[in-house]
Amino acid sequence: MELKPKDIPIEFLQGLPEGIKLVSRKGHPYLVLEQALDKNGNSIIDETVHIHGEPAVKLKANVGKGSGLLFVDAYWGSHAKLYSFIPDFSGGGSVEAMSPVDGSSLMVPWECPIDGCDEKQGILLTLPGGRNSIIVCGKLGCPGHYINVTQLAEGVEESISNINYFGHGDDDPFSEF
Ligand SMILES: [Zn+2]
Repeated sequence: MELKPKDIPIEFLQGLPEGIKLVSRKGHPYLVLEQALDKNGNSIIDETVHIHGEPAVKLKANVGKGSGLLFVDAYWGSHAKLYSFIPDFSGGGSVEAMSPVDGSSLMVPWECPIDGCDEKQGILLTLPGGRNSIIVCGKLGCPGHYINVTQLAEGVEESISNINYFGHGDDDPFSEF
């Protein structure tokens, strides 16, 4: 599975929030999460684990009876993940995520906008400065996510939140460019 380029609104490119960078791969622009923090301001980007060539977001996670580290692709709209454990999907695949630094919860109340997903918890990734944030659906395999950026013009947030490079439920961690 390859990353599929999507149009990125020009207003967003003109005011990229801190922590998100624009990269070009094969001549197409992609947004990449470069910095993410837990609720206490600790960095949760792991410089040693890369997915699609970029440092991954590192989470402590419980999935059913399984628990360990979960690495999430920093490419905006990608859902590639790597697990240090065997996730237990028997309970529906909801994740409970914690900071890998201090163990604090990353979960926040969330109404998933994706049809057919009834998840009520999301994973909060805070951007530098603390005002902007990203929420990822707590259901593994669900593409639901939202970016909350205070300096964006109205409407841009929604179109950015709707960018998904992969199809629903695509979880293939082994694909490369
Ligand atoms: Zn969802």
